Amino acid sequence: MRTKTAIAAIIILLISALVSCGSATRDSFTLFSMDTFLDITLWNPKNAEESKTACETEANRLENLLSATIDTSDVSAINSAGLSPTAVSRETAVCVSTATKINELTSGAYDVTVAPLVNLWDIAHPSENWAPPADDEIVSAMALCGGKLAVTGSDGSYSVTKSDENTKIDLGGVGKGYACGALSELFASRGENGFLSYGGNVAVFGKKPDGSAFSVGVKDPFDPSSLTGKLSIRSGIVAVSGGYERYVDYNGKRYHHIIDPATGYPSESDLASAGIWVSVSSPEAGAAADALSTACFVLGAEKSMELYDSEEFKNYAKSLGCEFGFLFIKADGTLVMTDNISEIYTTFEK
Ligand code: AMP
Ligand code: MG
Repeated sequence: MRTKTAIAAIIILLISALVSCGSATRDSFTLFSMDTFLDITLWNPKNAEESKTACETEANRLENLLSATIDTSDVSAINSAGLSPTAVSRETAVCVSTATKINELTSGAYDVTVAPLVNLWDIAHPSENWAPPADDEIVSAMALCGGKLAVTGSDGSYSVTKSDENTKIDLGGVGKGYACGALSELFASRGENGFLSYGGNVAVFGKKPDGSAFSVGVKDPFDPSSLTGKLSIRSGIVAVSGGYERYVDYNGKRYHHIIDPATGYPSESDLASAGIWVSVSSPEAGAAADALSTACFVLGAEKSMELYDSEEFKNYAKSLGCEFGFLFIKADGTLVMTDNISEIYTTFEK
């Protein structure tokens, strides 16, 4: 068995590098948070040290609310709750209500109650003698999924109520997008300009020194150490999901980390990767893009494009005040994208 995860589960890395680029200065650093690397680049930083510290504090604060593996998190409180409402932070309430909305829009392809299946498959931190779960274990875990979550509250007081006390949630497909938006707002409020990359999500904030668009590289899902193209964006967040991010190879078959709630198995759509651009770098928009990238990877190209064209989706985008764009790389290597993406996407020659 060969295992590969994107993560060496160790320490917080704080690497700082100052690179000169013409008259502009570029300061890059890396943190480890939410079980993945968080890479930040600031152009001509206003106050790099203070911005780094503020970013690290905020990333840790969000992880402490949203992680399913931290006992004191909001997510652990929801998971151990019965049918009574669980008091949660605004951040958790936004992630859960975004997850619920994307669940409805995607007919259940995105479902944070898939946690029992995610834990059963254990792709993120597989053991040395990992093997796929047995069919009856999958059926038992599926029986625990699919519960409903009601989010109520406003102005600082929020709660989540489960329809089934066995329901457990995993915000792994939405929390990093939320955090991407939150951290980008934090940097923008400090007058910083740059971009950050957080486990498959990239957010840009402020402006590049020369006023040009930011280039966001799109990984080649068939060779993730290289890029297959780039998106030129002036604002927003790009979230990408793919089977290449975390997986286990076992007896010649690849098992990745995105579960199709309808089958209980790693999804098998026609996509190698699903990329979502949202025009705004806010926590709400980032959460939506992140959840959508996971959902579209499960749905496949055709159903995702139908979603994009639906009135419900257009109304959702309007309610968020955002424009979305979809960029899919199919398993056969062909590209499918919305019109607004074809204007800003460039394929690299190989
Ligand atoms: P992402 O890398 O954003 O696509 O998120 C993948 C993560 O979301 C997985 O590692 C799981 O924690 C979780 N997850 C897996 N399948 C689903 C699903 N169908 N709906 C919601 N979350 C999922
Ligand atoms: Mg996601």
